[in-house]
Order: sequence, then structure tokens, then C-alpha cells
Amino acid sequence: MEKKLIYLDNNATTKVDDKVLEAMLPYFSSEYANPSSIYSFAKNSNHAVKEARGKIKDFLNAANEKEIIFTSCGSESANTAIRGVLNMNKNKRHIITTKVEHPCVLNLYQTLEKEGYSVDYIGVNANGELDLAQLEEAINYDTALVSVMYANNETGVIFPIEKISEIVKSKNKETKLFVDAVQVTGKIPIDVQAANIDLLGISGHKFHAPKGVGALYVNSKTMITPLIIGGHQERGKRAGTENVPYIVGMGKAAEIATDFLKYEATEVKRLRDKLEASILKNVFNARLNTGIANRVPNTTNIGFEYIEGELILLHLSDLGICASSGSACTSGSLEPSHVLRAMNVPFTAIHGSIRLSLSKYTTEDEVDYVASVFPGIIEKLCNISPYQDELDALRKLRA
Ligand code: PLP
Repeated sequence: MEKKLIYLDNNATTKVDDKVLEAMLPYFSSEYANPSSIYSFAKNSNHAVKEARGKIKDFLNAANEKEIIFTSCGSESANTAIRGVLNMNKNKRHIITTKVEHPCVLNLYQTLEKEGYSVDYIGVNANGELDLAQLEEAINYDTALVSVMYANNETGVIFPIEKISEIVKSKNKETKLFVDAVQVTGKIPIDVQAANIDLLGISGHKFHAPKGVGALYVNSKTMITPLIIGGHQERGKRAGTENVPYIVGMGKAAEIATDFLKYEATEVKRLRDKLEASILKNVFNARLNTGIANRVPNTTNIGFEYIEGELILLHLSDLGICASSGSACTSGSLEPSHVLRAMNVPFTAIHGSIRLSLSKYTTEDEVDYVASVFPGIIEKLCNISPYQDELDALRKLRA
């Protein structure tokens, strides 16, 4: 019998929606014109890019289509925003981010530190919530940029972006705020105007568009230099012939995601909560790493004490279940994730922490099946754990 795939790794990437693929197809074949060309054959591809830009503008509630720049991915959006802002403000040498950012921000900040910037990395508490007092204290007259993720990819914990923006602007109204919104896209509404955000990045493949396309919102009062220098595309902010089919796909995905926001908040959340509650109830050494923190509806991060997360993943994989430990980039290495380390997850649970992330395609049957196999897998791994005395003590404690 063929093994059924159960995909619970939607924070790593998502399945392309059939309607997205359908919308993209003509732009690979009959409508292949370069959208910058002036002949009438290029009208359709030109119009398609314009239409997609309008959809992304609406999706983010931007004021103007000119504020949307198409990029190749979330990493490019972040690099463009951060380098772009700093190049325009060369006299300012202080920048701020958090300890739990995705590597596309964290590694860039470390590079900037080597280039002479003074950097503050803001911490989180045990639930993964940002230390807002530390952020407020860190901002000074010399702060060019604050880069903060909207929700964390490993824990799903949402940072209060409106409040963060208020803090940033009240401390220094010239400081720019870049928000990496890759992990909230399609999960909660985004409103760049209400939250008073200067720059915000998204990535298509996290909300059912393909890999290889992203967008950057830059509000009309914020100046940036381009990261990719060349032609005049994207109003001179990002050179390179537009990836028309993928841009069309991301526009369609944004439109569909808007219609699904309510489903995410209710049904996806219900299934996530059901799976999480069942594991926490039936597995004696399980702990929810995020406590009561506010999270996106699809993500749970659970630590299993005294066992190895990679082994859990392999056992799940044998049953066709896809999950991950840490971010996709760090899994495969046995280093505990920088996010869980920043949260001070106890060493007994940090190596045994895994992330399950659902999507609109996750079914109740899948959730019930995954919940049913967990106790057996964890029991097997407890039996081969070198920490038998500690496990016995924990078993008694939680009985
Ligand atoms: N930011 C966050 C929070 C992410 O989770 C990811 C991808 O996992 C990225 C940025 C990078 O996005 P991309 O893979 O499109 O470069």
C-alpha cells in the first residue's frame, strides 16, 4: 500500500494552490512577452504584472501600488530593505534587530557588524515574546533601522508590530522599521498603514505561491537604494526582467489568502489546538515551548524531554509525516536552534523540540492520525534514552 503523505511543515514551504498554478500557466507559454516591451504583444504580460501589484497592495493595505517591489524571495526582500535603508542614511551607525530573526536578517546584521555598525540584538522571554522594554531602551538618536519579524518561523510567536512601531517612532521618528512578515502572510491580516510600517517583506512560497518570488513594501516616505543594479524595472528599485508567471502566481495567492484568513483563524487554529492538546495530554514528557504566547494559528513547537528531536522526525518520516526541528536551514545539524536558545528552553527539552505547522490543506483525519502515533513513537525513544532515571522521575511527577 502506498504511504500517504501528511505534510505538517508549512512554515518551511507550502503546496502551490491549483488555482495559482492555473493563473500562472499562460505566462510560461502563449504570453511570454517581456512586460517592458512596447509592442502590443507585451500588453498582456505588462497588464498581468500591474494587476498582481494591485493585488499585493490590497493584501498589505498599502496606500499605493508604487510602494510594492517584486523580488525573488523573502531573503532578497530583507536584504534589499536593510541594505537599501542603510545606504540612504550613511551617517547613522546604529542598528537593532532581535535574537530570534531568520538567518536572512541575523546573518546580514552580523555582516554589518563586521562592517562597523553598532548592533543591538533584542532578547525574548521564555515564551518567545519580545522584550519591548529592552527595545525601547536600545533606540537612540543614531539608530538608522530596527528590523523585527512579525512572527517567528520556529515558534509561530507573533510580535506586537503596532506597539513596536509606536515605540520606534516615539523614540526616534527618523528610525526606519523593517518587518519580516514572511511567517504571517496568509495567516493573519497585514495592514502596513494601520501598523505604521516603513518596509515589509513577504515570500510567495509560504502562502501557496511558488518558490522564487517575493515582495517588498516600501512606503512612499522611505528612500532605498537597489540591491540589484541594472535596468529600470521596479522603478529602479530592483533590476532584472520581471518573473511574470511567478508574480502573477503570487498575486493570485494573495487574493486567495485574503478569502482564507477567517478559515486560518478558526479551522486551522482548531486543528492545531486539537493536535497540540492531544500530544500534551498523552505524552508525559511533552512541553509547549511557547506557553501562553500569542501565535499564528498554524504552528506549534513542542519539546520532548530527554530524547532527540531528529529521531522523532525520522520516525514520523517513516510514517509519511513531514515535520521539522528548528528552521529548515538549521535542521540537519544537531545544533539546537538559536531561537530556542534565546528562549532559554531547558537543555532537557531543547534537543527534543519539534515544530508542526499546518495549512488550509491539513485535514481532521490527518491530525487525528498524527496525534495517535505520537505516544508510541515517544515511548520507543524514551526506552533508548540514556536518561532513564530522569525519565522515571518525570513520569512519576506528571502521573
Ligand atoms: N523570514 C522568515 C521568518 C522565514 O521563515 C523565511 C523562510 O523560511 C525567510 C525570511 C526567507 O524566505 P525565502 O525562503 O523566501 O528567502
